[in-house]
Amino acid sequence: MSLMPSLKLFFRHTMKSLAIAERQILGTRRGSSIFLPTPDATSAWCHRCGASQNRISNSQDYDEHLSCRKCVGVLLARDRTIRLGTYDGQWRDAILAVKHGGDRALARKLGKLLAQQWQHTITTESFICENAIVIPVPMPFARRVERGIDHANEIASGVSKTLGYPLLRCLEHDAGPVQALLTRADRQSRAQRIHWKGIRKRKFRHFATPDLSSIKTVFVVDDVLTTGSTVAQVCAAVRSRLGSVKIVTLVVATV
Ligand SMILES: [Zn+2]
Repeated sequence: MSLMPSLKLFFRHTMKSLAIAERQILGTRRGSSIFLPTPDATSAWCHRCGASQNRISNSQDYDEHLSCRKCVGVLLARDRTIRLGTYDGQWRDAILAVKHGGDRALARKLGKLLAQQWQHTITTESFICENAIVIPVPMPFARRVERGIDHANEIASGVSKTLGYPLLRCLEHDAGPVQALLTRADRQSRAQRIHWKGIRKRKFRHFATPDLSSIKTVFVVDDVLTTGSTVAQVCAAVRSRLGSVKIVTLVVATV
């Protein structure tokens, strides 16, 4: 009898709930008054591990000259680490505004700066990066919903747009304890939680679908580099599917 009106009402409520959920997941805030400082000069950090200052050599042409006192002799999964600064002051404010304030415009801006920092750092002679892709460090789904923003993905989007390489959300992160609550030792001993998920075709609106076997360089994007254990997991997941690719880590700040 009154089936149609009830159905209509039901659909209207459902669509409204979905719209609210979408807004919570994607975030709606735009613009901010956060002032971004000038990114570090390329001589300020070790381009292999990302640590500050104590580099042995200024040469960028050969990998063996890249190590600093902190990472010499250390086996790292990533080939390069590019950063804008250290995790304090205004860089910290900017990261928190993106992560907890949902500032997507600021995230894209950080991504653009990271892409430019990469362009300043590496000359084309020293590092060929044909057939490159950009991958954000994945965040567990529940945390993404809770925060209303996938910050690494937003930053990676700015990198992808500036460098012109496709953005792939091809990894997934199993939910686990919040990283900030873990001790350094716990974090390092955690099992592999990041896995290759696959590619969703609709992410390639602006790019041709890349042939995975032809990919030579992978840009892994995150906000902060702490122990490097998350990035190491990303590298393992990426190499499990793509083989021996060069991996460049782009982070806003190192701790
Ligand atoms: Zn180093």
